[in-house]
Amino acid sequence: MVLSMIFETFPVGPLQCNCTILGDEQAREAIEIDPGDDVSRIHKRLTERGLTLKQILVTHGHIDHVGGALGLKRLTGAPIYLNENDLPQLQMMEEQAAWVGVSTPETAPPDGGLVDGQMVGLENYSAKVLHTPGHTQGSICLHFVPLKLLIAGDTLFAGSIGRTDLPGGNYGQIMDSLHSRLLALPDETNVIPGHGPVTSIGEERRSNPFLTGL
Ligand SMILES: [Zn+2]
Repeated sequence: MVLSMIFETFPVGPLQCNCTILGDEQAREAIEIDPGDDVSRIHKRLTERGLTLKQILVTHGHIDHVGGALGLKRLTGAPIYLNENDLPQLQMMEEQAAWVGVSTPETAPPDGGLVDGQMVGLENYSAKVLHTPGHTQGSICLHFVPLKLLIAGDTLFAGSIGRTDLPGGNYGQIMDSLHSRLLALPDETNVIPGHGPVTSIGEERRSNPFLTGL
């Protein structure tokens, strides 16, 4: 059987968080990663393609990544997964909304956690959870090993790394996560960061000033 994957990444909300829909064309099932905002747009893409949403996976508890999760759950019935170390971020949603200058989205405790080494996703397109604290304590990346793809949240960007000056941030910790977990991946691993353009582990290993020490 030839597998056929549906893959769409587009920026949502005022902070332009990259949200991703990954679907299995045959099974008509999908997962959604980081539905930070624009829930109706995400939902429309799913229904247009006739996809049933199975999981809502959130890389960390910042408003621009998790803000639309509960709304999307209400429209689709899909469970929300978030690393439990970011539960304090959900309690701070009002402060987070004030930082961004938006109204406070309703949130709820996740239906499940995302722990290091856990496998999530679809049967044919599964991802391994890498716990990569530093940007927040509950930041995770999703490694789709056969796809050679990493969804990096706000841990790694093209030419930059996640900020560590917000509550729960820790510079030493994000550097450790980057070096011990992400740079351990093969160069050909494509990276979809939480914001901005796509990159690869090899490209960042060569040229990211935070990782080369230049
Ligand atoms: Zn963030």
